[in-house]
Amino acid sequence: MTEIAADEDAVVIVGSGAGGGTLAYELTKAGIPCVVLEAGPFLRNEDYHDNEWVAFRQMAWLDARTTSGSWRIAKDFPVLPAWIVKAVGGSTTHWSGATPRFKDYEFKTRTTYGAVEGATLLDWPISLEELAPYYDKAEIAMGSTHRHGRPPLPANNNYKVFANGAERVGYKLYATGPYATNAEPYDDRPASIQDGFNFQGDKNTSKWSTLVREIPRALETGLLDLRPDSHVVRITHDAQGRVDAVLYVDKDGGLHRQAARAVCVAGNSIETPRLLLLSESNRFPNGLANSSDQVGRNYMRHLTGSVYARFDKPVRMYRGETMAGIIADEAAHDPSRGFVGGYYMETLSLGPSFLAAFAEPGGWGPDFAEIMDAYANTAGMWIVGEDMPQAGNRITLSDTVRDQWGLAAPNVHFDDHANDVAMRDYAYEHAQKLYEAVGAVGSHRTPPYPSTHNLGTCRMSERPEDGVVDRWGRAHDVPNLFVSDGSVMTTGGAANPTLTIVALAIRQAEYLAAELKAGNI
Ligand SMILES: Cc1cc2nc3c(=O)[nH]c(=O)nc-3n(C[C@H](O)[C@H](O)[C@H](O)COP(=O)(O)OP(=O)(O)OC[C@H]3O[C@@H](n4cnc5c(N)ncnc54)[C@H](O)[C@@H]3O)c2cc1C
Repeated sequence: MTEIAADEDAVVIVGSGAGGGTLAYELTKAGIPCVVLEAGPFLRNEDYHDNEWVAFRQMAWLDARTTSGSWRIAKDFPVLPAWIVKAVGGSTTHWSGATPRFKDYEFKTRTTYGAVEGATLLDWPISLEELAPYYDKAEIAMGSTHRHGRPPLPANNNYKVFANGAERVGYKLYATGPYATNAEPYDDRPASIQDGFNFQGDKNTSKWSTLVREIPRALETGLLDLRPDSHVVRITHDAQGRVDAVLYVDKDGGLHRQAARAVCVAGNSIETPRLLLLSESNRFPNGLANSSDQVGRNYMRHLTGSVYARFDKPVRMYRGETMAGIIADEAAHDPSRGFVGGYYMETLSLGPSFLAAFAEPGGWGPDFAEIMDAYANTAGMWIVGEDMPQAGNRITLSDTVRDQWGLAAPNVHFDDHANDVAMRDYAYEHAQKLYEAVGAVGSHRTPPYPSTHNLGTCRMSERPEDGVVDRWGRAHDVPNLFVSDGSVMTTGGAANPTLTIVALAIRQAEYLAAELKAGNI
């Protein structure tokens, strides 16, 4: 591995997940040396345990966080608003693999939906047409099934119940993907062995993550200086307002400085705005790149919820790829349903210990026992849809709680928008109908888990006053500062976000490489 000197002006990437890991590979492949500073450890797939809670504790970001607002998470999980990873590979080590694309109108929801009271809808400064070639590259890199010649995964039991229900209620658009896990050997990785442990780091390596693909390949170029256990605590700037270095803390609390020619922040949509807010200075008193006061605002987490249905025969939903089942019929924008935007239905299985924690937080007594007793006979699905951006849903710095380094913890404030509630109620009802159509003897509506899809907070905008970064993810206020993760999403669409994050990172890398080579940065 290359070593880049602390005083050498480097391209510094903060975070090694979907955005940061992809950017690191694309830049090193283009001949540009990079330093990646990753707060978490460098665990390999084989280091992860298959036990749900053991694996969770190995990978989850458990530093101090607080939450407020009327969402149920504030009551159920007050110190765990989001389910995000702190390890090399970021949340792609934990993710499932569903990879739908955004639809054309989802890049222009303000135009398509019109003004929605209380929502800060804004059209993206880019279109689907512009992103489409990068979606192709991302799908090829991630090996999305059903795309570019990749065959589908076989149906597991949970999917068979789901697809049969879909057929009976008249849905047409259902399949076992697109899903970024190999159905056959591809890209030097094996086919899925359907062991169902893809939330647990995936020992088998058939699931795409930046841990299995981008990071090792970037290391192979000899141009990546990967520093795990390195938590960036501040970005500094020179007298002209250009970023010039980052300060980071190693696992023993030692403080280091790395000089930077450009800084690309990819810490996920809570830590990225937190880092910008922590980097305030006389020149940037409200936080770096925050002259618009938009850093941290418009936090989105997708409309989510799950439905678990009980049958009189075993389903064994835990067998096979967790989320290899998608129904897209409800994903279109159809305001006649009483809300704007759309949602997907996706198969979901949790093991008994996760289900006990998440099915009905705080649940107890006979009704809860009935859910758990029926585990082997249960089928499950997740609902994922577009939620409305709102200015008040935001990441701020806590006045009272500090992390292990003495830095202000992030607070995540979230209130559901009326549109989110209407969509969730509609989706719950239709999910239950689907299961009833195939003979469910009972079903249960599970509230949203801690957020796995964390979006917005540094949104892309055409005009500097509406957002934080431009169409390339470059800060409006600081020419050599980039945001390279899900924070840049102007609106969230209905699709699971990671394919879009990877496509945007590939596109950003191309731009950044050209700017660096032209000497513009
Ligand atoms: C259980 C689960 C299932 C999911 N399933 C799906 C799915 O099926 N489809 C889908 O599209 N998405 C899914 N997701 C979401 C997906 O994982 C995320 O959308 C994606 O990984 C976000 O990419 P990112 O680059 O924004 O952040 P991440 O991938 O989270 O990477 C951020 C990295 O930055 C590091 N970091 C943060 N702050 C600092 C700092 N100050 N200094 C140094 N390093 C820092 C973190 O440790 C982390 O490694 C799932 C997530 C979870 C948890």
